[in-house]
Amino acid sequence: MREVLLLKLGEIILKGLNRNKFERQLINNINRRLSFIGAYKVTCMQSTVYVEPENGSDIGAAIEAVSKIFGIVSICRAARCEKNLDDIIKTAVEYLGGILSRAETFKVEARRADKTFPLKSPEIAKTVGGALHKAYPGLKVNVDAPQILVKVEIRDKYAFVHANPLPGAGGLPVGINGAAALLLSGGIDSPVAGYMMAKRGLKLHAVHFHSYPYTSERAKQKVIDLAKTLTAYTGDIKLSVVPFTRIQEEIRANCREDMFTLVMRRFMMRIAERIALSDNCGALVTGESLGQVASQTMEALGVTGGVCSLPVLRPLIGMDKEDIVLISRKIDTYEISIRPYEDCCTVFTPKHPKTKPRPYDAESQEARLDVVALIEEALANTELLNIEREDLI
Ligand code: ATP
Ligand code: MG
Repeated sequence: MREVLLLKLGEIILKGLNRNKFERQLINNINRRLSFIGAYKVTCMQSTVYVEPENGSDIGAAIEAVSKIFGIVSICRAARCEKNLDDIIKTAVEYLGGILSRAETFKVEARRADKTFPLKSPEIAKTVGGALHKAYPGLKVNVDAPQILVKVEIRDKYAFVHANPLPGAGGLPVGINGAAALLLSGGIDSPVAGYMMAKRGLKLHAVHFHSYPYTSERAKQKVIDLAKTLTAYTGDIKLSVVPFTRIQEEIRANCREDMFTLVMRRFMMRIAERIALSDNCGALVTGESLGQVASQTMEALGVTGGVCSLPVLRPLIGMDKEDIVLISRKIDTYEISIRPYEDCCTVFTPKHPKTKPRPYDAESQEARLDVVALIEEALANTELLNIEREDLI
């Protein structure tokens, strides 16, 4: 008996002709993620991905890792056996003995992907169910709501037995919908925004604006740690760290105070768009949520987004802070986000920001600055980091 994982694919099996491309992307993502924890053979057949541990690699660690990979709806930890009823029954009795002996009700379902197998699915289920009942006489059959749902799958080369699958991360494999630049601050919202768009199949290039010496090196480290934590879901992330101090000082010296934040945000969008275009990204992603702060009123969002032509994706736009916090706890970014280092926006926040700005309010302030030169200077001094999963292990 050998233990393997069967990973069931979600929406990607609906994608018709693109299916092969989707499966290849998913397998690449799984291989890359598992390469950090051990040796595993990963193959795909009939819309199921098989993960087989090799050289004594840990199956538990593989479950933990694949549970965060988008494109998988459920994870079955299964016993592999020969394609004959005797071996299937023997395997089911032994492999599932632990949970079956503690349970009160069960049901067996069978699926025959190999139609040459001599018994039909209902007959397989009935025979295996009878044998389990005999081995564990305390068990009762419950077809509507069994505590343990035993599954027998007759596949290409082998049969598999498993029960009660674990939920997968859902979504689409990272990369199949292209790439986007994520404006990643040190706050709670933007890592969650990145997680949500990665879940829809986007690869991320994170862009962080750093205001050294107003913000410390530790503030930059915080963003690196956030990006590293996200890699469990997103795979490797490029992180561009843009020096933002000179732009902020120029704004403070030349612009009206109530427009500081918005002019600053427009610089961020323009610079992020340049970085996006240089790395084949088709959109920008921000952690903005309608009405959360003065710079996120409808008018302010219009003025901020008005400077770029790429689409701006704002997955948190309709979410309450509490719901955002719940996700940030789930993906382990919350504790990093609440580390108490200032971010560049809070250092330069005006006392009374304009909440209903028009584009002209920002444009008239920007006319006092050499916008092009400031952007070129920031880009020339941008530092590019590659954030990889292995750093965490
Ligand atoms: P967050 O919790 O993500 O910091 P926030 O509620 O503090 O968001 P703002 O400071 O107004 O909101 O920022 C709105 C969005 O602008 C952020 O979600 C992020 O996408 C982007 N942003 C803000 N500051 C930075 C920064 N220093 N570097 C990169 N992106 C930033
Ligand atoms: Mg912030």
